[in-house]
Amino acid sequence: MRIIDRIYIDGAFVTPHGEEIASLYNPSTEEEIGTVRLGDHTDALLAVAAARRAFQSFSRTTKSERIGMLKRLSAAIASRAEELSEAMALEYGAPQYFVGFSVPHAASVFLDMAETLAAYDFTRQIGRAEVTMQPLGVVAAITPWNSNYGFICSKLATAIAAGCTIVIKPSEMSAVQTDLLTECLHEAGLPPGVFNIVTGRGDVVGAALSGHPDVAKVSFTGSTAVGKQIVRTSADTLKRVTLELGGKGPNIILDDADLDKVIPIVLSMGLANSGQACVAGTRILAPESRLADILSRLKSAVEAIKTGDPRDSNVRIGPMVSQKQYDRVQSYIRLGSEEGAELLAGGEGRPEGLERGWFVRPTVFAGVTNEMRIAREEIFGPVLCVIPYRDEEQAVAIANDTSYGLQAYVHASDDERARRVADRLQSGRVVINGAPHEPLAPFGGFKQSGIGREYGVFGLETHLEPRAVLV
Ligand code: NAD
Repeated sequence: MRIIDRIYIDGAFVTPHGEEIASLYNPSTEEEIGTVRLGDHTDALLAVAAARRAFQSFSRTTKSERIGMLKRLSAAIASRAEELSEAMALEYGAPQYFVGFSVPHAASVFLDMAETLAAYDFTRQIGRAEVTMQPLGVVAAITPWNSNYGFICSKLATAIAAGCTIVIKPSEMSAVQTDLLTECLHEAGLPPGVFNIVTGRGDVVGAALSGHPDVAKVSFTGSTAVGKQIVRTSADTLKRVTLELGGKGPNIILDDADLDKVIPIVLSMGLANSGQACVAGTRILAPESRLADILSRLKSAVEAIKTGDPRDSNVRIGPMVSQKQYDRVQSYIRLGSEEGAELLAGGEGRPEGLERGWFVRPTVFAGVTNEMRIAREEIFGPVLCVIPYRDEEQAVAIANDTSYGLQAYVHASDDERARRVADRLQSGRVVINGAPHEPLAPFGGFKQSGIGREYGVFGLETHLEPRAVLV
C-alpha cells in the first residue's frame, strides 16, 4: 500500500492541511493500492502565496537562467524514467507503447520549450512604441488523469519559459504518479515557490485556484463541462484562460486510400491511449463506394487487438482508469445499440478471459449517423463509429458538424487531395496519413474543444502580456 500524505509547497514536501483521504486503485486488478491525503482550500491559498512571493524575483530571471532550469528539469525526469514508467502502468494501466511515449515526452517538453525560449524575442519595436512581453504572474494549472506526466510537465515548462510561477493541481486519481514526478522535479533545484503541486479535489482545490484574485491565469486540460465551469469561476477576476478540452475527431478515409496501409493507422488514431484520449479519431468517415471492404477489414483488425495486462508488450488496450469510467463506456455501448447502430465488433462487458479489471471490449459501430449521441458525445473509451459518406463534400460537412474541433485525421493516396480536405476542416490540428506529432506546432481546439493553444511560441505567448512603452 502506498500512503501519499504530502504535497509540495514553497520548495518543500509538506503535510496537507486537508484531511480527506481518497483510495487509489490498480485499474487492471481493481485492487486498492494506496491512499492519498488530499489538499484543501487552505493548501491552495498557501501554494498561491508561495508562488506569488517567488514571482517577484523569478519574473526577472534571464532567458539563459530559465533555459538552464528547463534543462535540469528534463534531466531530472529522464534519470528516473524506469520508476515513472512503472508507476504509470500500475496506477493508470497504460499499455507499454503509451508509457514508452509518455515518459520521454515528459522529459522532452522541457527541451522543446527551452528551444522556443532561446529563439524568442521578448522585445520588439512597433513605430514609436517599444513593446515588451511581460510574464502574466501566478498561473494555476489543472490537469486530468489520462496523461498526468505530460500535462504537468508541458504546463510547467511553459510557465517557466515565460517567467511565471505556478500552482499545479493534478487529478486526484494520479497521486502515485504525481508524487514520484514531484520528487524528480524537486531534484532540479528550482528556487522555492516557483512551482507548487497540490493534489486535491477539483471542486475544492481547483475551484479555489480558479477564483483566487492572485492567480493571473488558469491553464486547464480536462472535460468541456469543467472547462466551462472554470470560465465562470474565473470571470470575476478576469483571468486569462487556456482550455484544452474534449474532442470527437473525424478520421476520414478518402476513396483513393490504400486500405492495407490505412486501416491500422485509422485504428491506432481511434484507439490511442485505450481510447482515453482527447485527440482520438473516434468518428471514422468511410466512402460508400468502399464501405463493405472497409467494414470487413475493420472488423477483423479490431477482433485481433489484444486487450489486457498493460505490462504485456502485445497489449494495445489497457483498462479504463476507474469503475466510473468503465461504467460510462459500457453505458455508451448500450446506447449505441439502442440508437439503432449495428455492432460490428466488441460490445458490452469485459473481453473474453478477463474477469477482473476495468477492461472494455474494443467496439466498433457501423451504420452510425452523425446525429446519434454516440457520434456527437465524447465517450473516452475504445468505442468507434463508422459513418458512411457519399462524396468529399459530404465528408467535410459531416466532419465539421460537431461542437468539437480538436484533432482530425485524413487518409488518402493523393497528398494534394488530402491537403485540400484538411484545409476545410474546423480543427486545431489535422493529421494527414498518420504524420508524427510536431512538438513546436500549436495544439488546441476550435469551437468547444477549447480556447488558446499550447506548445511552442503560441503556448509561450498565452503566458505573456504585451506592454507598449511610448517614447
Ligand atoms: P475533468 O474535467 O473531470 O477533470 C480535469 C481536472 O479538473 C481534474 O484535475 C479535476 O479534479 C479538475 N476539476 C474538476 N472539477 C473542477 C472544478 N469545478 N474546478 C476546477 N477544477 C476542477 O476531466 P478528466 O475526467 O480528468 O479527464 C478527461 C477529460 O479531459 C476528457 O473530456 C478529455 O477529452 C479531456 N482532455 C482534453 C485534452 C486536451 O488537450 N484537449 C487532453 C486530455 C484530456
